[in-house]
Amino acid sequence: MALPALSENHTDPQAYPPGIAYMDGQYFEVSKARVSILDYGFLHSDATYDVVHTWDGAFFRLDLHLERFFSNIDALQMTIPYSKDDVETVLHNCVGLSGLKDAYVEMVCTRGTSPSFSRDPRDAVNRFMAFAIPFGSIANPSQMQRGLHAVISPTTRIPASSVDPSVKNYHWLDMVQGLYHAYGAGGDTTILLDGDGNVTEGPGFNIFSVRDGWLTTPVRGVLQGITRRTVFDLCGEIDVPCSAGILTPADLEAADEVFVTSTAGGLMPITTINAKRVGDGTVGPIFSTLKEAYWKKHKAPEWTTKVREYA
Ligand code: PLP
Repeated sequence: MALPALSENHTDPQAYPPGIAYMDGQYFEVSKARVSILDYGFLHSDATYDVVHTWDGAFFRLDLHLERFFSNIDALQMTIPYSKDDVETVLHNCVGLSGLKDAYVEMVCTRGTSPSFSRDPRDAVNRFMAFAIPFGSIANPSQMQRGLHAVISPTTRIPASSVDPSVKNYHWLDMVQGLYHAYGAGGDTTILLDGDGNVTEGPGFNIFSVRDGWLTTPVRGVLQGITRRTVFDLCGEIDVPCSAGILTPADLEAADEVFVTSTAGGLMPITTINAKRVGDGTVGPIFSTLKEAYWKKHKAPEWTTKVREYA
């Protein structure tokens, strides 16, 4: 049997959202950006990343995202030939070229690969890439109104002693399994527990409970989310007590309100857990106050950076 002819260029039959990607000094339409099939970021989930958003043409808390991205690159013993300022310029350019005002902007560092496909990670040339696509939220508009319905996952979060969740990573199989369980049970999203049965986080978000006016979020086994940090900052400003501690499923059940936080959507309410109502089953007042304060801050000069192209 004759071998098939080699193609000159790869033609991808998938459809992609609009947007701009950067790699190797070049900017592309997202649909034209290619990662090598031999990149350990793809083959081994050997990568770290960060996601910042722009809203109405300005980045939100960009300095915190850049700081976390560079400290996570260090934590994984990777290096990239770009300074923080270089990466910031690439992000501005991706958004500016995309024309998007409300964008989901991701920066990625993968282990890369080596010319010999060496198994020694030290031989790999680490890769930096970035992209800007339209802003997306974990909760859609109707879920924002009625609240997300969460289901506790029967599979636990990957232990923090194995894969450090504070280093933002692509080890998502635990969360994806949890999502399928939640969908099967009629829910929208999932909450993962750790090996001791305590609440950790969910696919792309941190979790807060509100009880008698006091906010609690898990202290460990989670990503130190920038939106989580923003909730602490907002609580400080409006004098609402908020602390990080141990949170159990029973605490969630007894809570007046539960909500989740993510760059992808900001603050989002949870109104049922395992089909049981949280509080009275409606979106709570403390959540609503904090959500409003969060979006108001998108106009505050100290927390925003205008996209250069739009300045
Ligand atoms: N936890 C996990 C596992 C995440 O992937 C994310 C964001 O993607 C978050 C929490 C929330 O972090 P941030 O507020 O920085 O977006």
